[in-house]
Amino acid sequence: MLSAYGNDGSKYIACETNKGEMDFYCSQCKSIVILKKGSKKVHHFAHKPPVDCIYSENESDTHYKCKQDIYLALKTREDCINVDCEKDLGKIRADVYWENLKGEKFAIEVQKSSISTDYIKYKMTRYKELGIYVIWLLPSMLSTAKREARDTDNKNNNINLVKPLEWHKYLHKLYFGKLYIWCGNLDIQVIHLDSYIYYIESGNWVDESDISTETNWYQDNYDRGHYGGHPKFSKSKKVAKTYNKTLNLVNDFSSSKQRKNIKFDTIDCLLLNDRIRSFWKQ
Ligand SMILES: [Zn+2]
Repeated sequence: MLSAYGNDGSKYIACETNKGEMDFYCSQCKSIVILKKGSKKVHHFAHKPPVDCIYSENESDTHYKCKQDIYLALKTREDCINVDCEKDLGKIRADVYWENLKGEKFAIEVQKSSISTDYIKYKMTRYKELGIYVIWLLPSMLSTAKREARDTDNKNNNINLVKPLEWHKYLHKLYFGKLYIWCGNLDIQVIHLDSYIYYIESGNWVDESDISTETNWYQDNYDRGHYGGHPKFSKSKKVAKTYNKTLNLVNDFSSSKQRKNIKFDTIDCLLLNDRIRSFWKQ
């Protein structure tokens, strides 16, 4: 974690703290934590083993860097106040938190590892109760997926094919067809996941009974059986379309809302959302 409490009761952020200043404690489990200020990894606090604390799980260096750099960049801005890192909000903790001069509150959730859509809904509901607008950032681009043998779409080879997980797809839906990738300081890359169409060669009839033979004609995203010879929308792979410039997290984003919709599985929640239109339709 990037923050800890000193024995003076104040909160300290690792990159702004010197070793030997005092003893530091985890806000959650109250055990002593060690300030790590090495030259390779982002400065952070570490629990002493053995530990049984929800904040002891090792976050990746990319994750730390994303939180720390955004926190430091926001602190340099006069239009961002009460900037905090790993802000305790009762049952949830915001990776980065700040307020603007109008009194609006914002939180960043940096997410890399897989989580359930229920957990996203839970957090967004808590944030809404607290009146906080949220943006979920991926600290790096989704990994590239392999192309099918025959694309009917996107004849050139420059398409960025990805295989989003369920939680990626859920956030994509919640944020009106966009995902946000952090690319340093306050720079955010916006991507839209578009349909990926490929061509299924015509072949032999395949039905459920043929699954065991693992023929080439059966894949997860095929229907139960077909003869092939037609284009198909991939259910698992998407074409990531990137907006042609990076956005600034403060200048180019503003508060907005998502509404509950049972059909689309969306919930009432508060979003920190970009102001660009559906760029992939142009
Ligand atoms: Zn702890």
